[in-house]
Amino acid sequence: SALPLAGRVAVVTGASSGIGAASAERLAELGARVAVLARRAERLDDLVARIGKNGGQALALSADVTDVAAVRAAADRVAAELGGADLLFNNAGVMLPAPIEELAADQWQHQIDLNITGLMNVIGAFVPQLVEAAAERGVADLINTSSIAAQNIFPNFAVYSATKAYVTHLSRHLRAELGRKNVRVSAIEPGIVGTELQSHVTDEGALAWLAGSKEEMEWLTPEDVAQTVGFVAGLPPRVNLQQVTIMPTGQP
Ligand code: NDP
Repeated sequence: SALPLAGRVAVVTGASSGIGAASAERLAELGARVAVLARRAERLDDLVARIGKNGGQALALSADVTDVAAVRAAADRVAAELGGADLLFNNAGVMLPAPIEELAADQWQHQIDLNITGLMNVIGAFVPQLVEAAAERGVADLINTSSIAAQNIFPNFAVYSATKAYVTHLSRHLRAELGRKNVRVSAIEPGIVGTELQSHVTDEGALAWLAGSKEEMEWLTPEDVAQTVGFVAGLPPRVNLQQVTIMPTGQP
């Protein structure tokens, strides 16, 4: 019998590590052809090779999502080489917590540029393909990676949390707007997942908080989130999971 995502074309951003890499592998395993996008080309080449070895098909797109021209060029390649995307996992992001009084303006800007502007650049480049695919096939998916930080209060994570509240809120509005065109929009809100995300944190207090959390509970794995992404995309066309919160069992 056919795989659940056979015939589909997925684009995954932030695919060179963590949740994005695991999700690209999962979507390929479920039968989708997958374009994997991030800056680190070597990582993407390894991922493409791994997917190929497992019987899947993938295309590496090395691009910075904050560079709107680069994202548009990547979208053109997806159209030319894979026939257009019907599934976008818009996932690239960065988390740089610090007390607001430290005035880490560069880190504020970096989070806003990537988590908001980068996310929008990708939406702008790929929504036309999603709408076209939905008109032809009856369904397409836009899945945005938000965070539990969009809902709950984490001291010193204000800017990050606000960028993720943007992602969740945007997703709800886009769902209403694009659902009429058979494009399902979902926001995935994970609790803590062990990835490279934590490796970019520089604030001592946040690092101590993360270390304590790792002692107290078993964090989610990227594969746990990847399973969810595959599930969301594989649902019957009439079913749209608007918001999915996936938490480590031990995380309050
Ligand atoms: P990782 O750091 O492992 O992955 C981040 C990905 O984003 C990498 O592939 C990175 O690749 C890519 N990326 C970073 N900057 C850019 C850029 N300018 N252009 C293109 N790609 C970029 O972290 P996660 O897998 O954890 O993060 C994925 C998403 O999940 C993020 O949006 C994060 O906020 C969210 N999230 C994570 C949680 C966690 O606890 N880990 C919890 C809740 C949400 P490269 O450097 O090669 O460009």
